[in-house]
Amino acid sequence: MDAVTPRHQTVRVRHELKRRLLTVSSTELLTPQMRRIGFTSPELHDFTSASFDDHIKLFFPTGGEPAMRDFTPRRFDSATNSLTIDFALHDAGPATSWAASAEVGDTLLIGGPRGSSVVPDDFDWYLLIGDETALPAIGRRVEELRENVPVTTFVVGDAQPIDARAAWTPHWITRHGGFGDAELLHAALAGHKLPAGDGFVWIAAEASVARHLRSYLIDGRGHPREWSKAAGYWKRGEADAHEKIED
Ligand SMILES: Cc1cc2nc3c(=O)[nH]c(=O)nc-3n(C[C@H](O)[C@H](O)[C@H](O)COP(=O)(O)OP(=O)(O)OC[C@H]3O[C@@H](n4cnc5c(N)ncnc54)[C@H](O)[C@@H]3O)c2cc1C
Repeated sequence: MDAVTPRHQTVRVRHELKRRLLTVSSTELLTPQMRRIGFTSPELHDFTSASFDDHIKLFFPTGGEPAMRDFTPRRFDSATNSLTIDFALHDAGPATSWAASAEVGDTLLIGGPRGSSVVPDDFDWYLLIGDETALPAIGRRVEELRENVPVTTFVVGDAQPIDARAAWTPHWITRHGGFGDAELLHAALAGHKLPAGDGFVWIAAEASVARHLRSYLIDGRGHPREWSKAAGYWKRGEADAHEKIED
């Protein structure tokens, strides 16, 4: 980065909005609650995803109007036109039911990404927090970060391997004792000292959990608001619900 470019500038990129029909090429149960599905399609030849927290719309068949849900492009390989999406399996919903039973050869329509918000990899450290729905973005960010940059992750859910060049410190938190995700993550973060230097904090989880943790880190611990991003990736009791968390 040259001397005149300010550090830490998020860059917004627009992409041409396209729908693409994909075919399932592989399935793998990564952990008991997470199914990784590989897709291929010639229609992916001009697919781009510039940021780890991009989302694409997935269109699930319902018998009537398709149900649309947001998912993270976990990995894209332009050499083979293959896209990987990791699905957190939960009780019920068109996305989770489709993902639980998808087989090689099945097809799925996707749209997007429409745009990306690219957070530069020029911070001194990163702190990434979330639940299973955030783990695809967290895993992608950890994999993409530059060599040896400190990144700490706090995730409620089962541990999974992630290839990191960064200096990655994972904290995997197991649900127990009837505690909610907000309490578990808050307690884990309370024991974590924020490093010196400029850091970027990213949070995604159930909306009330993400809101609580953002407020704890910004208002309670003094982390700069502009160096943070938080999103509700789902809302308890509501289908197809998400929320960008700002003041
Ligand atoms: C930008 C973005 C990126 C996302 N990326 C991913 C991703 O890569 N992988 C991924 O798995 N999810 C991801 N999500 C979350 C996913 O879109 C939601 O979990 C979605 O609601 C799942 O749809 P569904 O059809 O399974 O359930 P819905 O029909 O939407 O909901 C049915 C019921 O299930 C509940 N519910 C929804 N999600 C969960 C959950 N995870 N755990 C427990 N209960 C739940 C709802 O509150 C509702 O009561 C992302 C969300 C956003 C906004």
